[in-house]
Amino acid sequence: MDHFPIFLALKGQKVILVGGGDLAARKLRLLRKADAAVTVIAPTLCDEIKELVAGAHIGYEERKFHSSDVVGASLVFAATDIEAVDASVSHAAQAHGIKVNAVDRPDLSDFIMPAIVDRSPMVVAISSGGAAPILARNLREKIESILPPALGRLATFADSFRGAVKGTISGGNERRKFWEDFFDGPVAEAVLSGREVSAREKMLGLINLNWKEERKAGHVAIVGAGPGDPDLLTFRAMRFMQQADVVVYDRLISDDILDYVRRDADRIYVGKAPGKHSKTQDEINEILVQQAQKGLRVVRLKGGDPFVFGRGGEEMEVLQSEGIDVDIVPGITAAVGCAAAAGVPLTHRDHASMVTFVAGQNGDGITQADWSGLANNRQTLVFYMGISNADQIASKLIRHGLDRNTPVAIIENGTRPNQRVLPGKLLDTAHMVETHNITGPALIVIGSVASFASKADFQQIAAGAIENKNVALYLNEVAVAGL
Ligand code: SAH
Repeated sequence: MDHFPIFLALKGQKVILVGGGDLAARKLRLLRKADAAVTVIAPTLCDEIKELVAGAHIGYEERKFHSSDVVGASLVFAATDIEAVDASVSHAAQAHGIKVNAVDRPDLSDFIMPAIVDRSPMVVAISSGGAAPILARNLREKIESILPPALGRLATFADSFRGAVKGTISGGNERRKFWEDFFDGPVAEAVLSGREVSAREKMLGLINLNWKEERKAGHVAIVGAGPGDPDLLTFRAMRFMQQADVVVYDRLISDDILDYVRRDADRIYVGKAPGKHSKTQDEINEILVQQAQKGLRVVRLKGGDPFVFGRGGEEMEVLQSEGIDVDIVPGITAAVGCAAAAGVPLTHRDHASMVTFVAGQNGDGITQADWSGLANNRQTLVFYMGISNADQIASKLIRHGLDRNTPVAIIENGTRPNQRVLPGKLLDTAHMVETHNITGPALIVIGSVASFASKADFQQIAAGAIENKNVALYLNEVAVAGL
């Protein structure tokens, strides 16, 4: 290790920053976060530093650097971008035994600056020791994308209960277990999801009652996994998938998405396997309740959004009636994901000012729909589960007055590598279904906006799929490493 990593308490400490340009501005932004008492020395300032100097408690000396400027400083930064000046700053600091950093000049520096992920008070600092700064930055971007934005809030929340936990749970080992459970559990999740008031109540319950009992309670997250491309998962979905003990998933969930589930989580498939009977909703509910009652963290993974034609509402009700904690994680519903992937805007000022999602399957979907309301040429209709009824859907709409030449787009396997976008006219809908042998999940989009499907070539959208798979593996590695 050529550079020893430390976190320095700079609050109120005197720091000299020599330079007034963009390089100096970057350092100044960081130093302000650390509440250092900074003095900037430079004959001229860029606009950003001018503004910072005017607004905050930052000293400014409008002149060239003198070697005596470093006296009494804790740290010195040379950021002039002029080698001779940076060298004289560096030598002056070193002559006084003060640690100095010259920006982008390791030979003139006692310390180097890491790439930083700031979720204060949680801070991650990454360094390649100067060997590959871009690699360090690259790694920072990856870590940035997997750490929840509210991680800092979680740390502050935990800190505010530290005394109470210490006072109630004696024994260092027990306390450690308490915190391990806490950071993995539903109270922490509530903080991360912005439900801090209820998290506080639950936390008091945990501390004052028996937290080991609580640990046995289990939890179910009903998670929307989007239409298929893992790149469309939310951060929150990823977090639950990475923490799961068991994942209960159905047919719409692709292997690409399952790659993101924690590797040693149990997987329970509840979709229809060819030739086998599929689980009824009651059986699925029963599995969810049983798994949660074992004290496990259960993820119920659903295609699209769990509350859009997903029966997530029914599962939520059953779990709640059993007193099991439930979180709902929204996902990108098929209509929204597929429309983007096919280049079809669902609303457009020149075409449609309304969009309606319709269940197109047999039974309730078809019989209860208000067909005269749907046959409106200023609205976009998106039929889910409608492929086998395409004929009925089109003829009902035509019978209720929708123009038979209204544009239609059938989007099959939307957002996935095998996506197909088939443009056509309302009148031809059934024929399109017949001739193209549609076997994957598919939507029928009806309305003027569907004409965009023939304009854009959005058929090959999933070039990122392979790359995403690598990120999945990487994330699993990070999880294994305990990050
Ligand atoms: N909860 C899901 C919908 C489940 S109903 C959501 O919000 O998306 C199942 C129907 O969704 C399928 O019959 C199909 O019409 C549609 N669907 C789901 N994924 C799809 C995809 N990748 N491409 C096209 N249609 C899809």
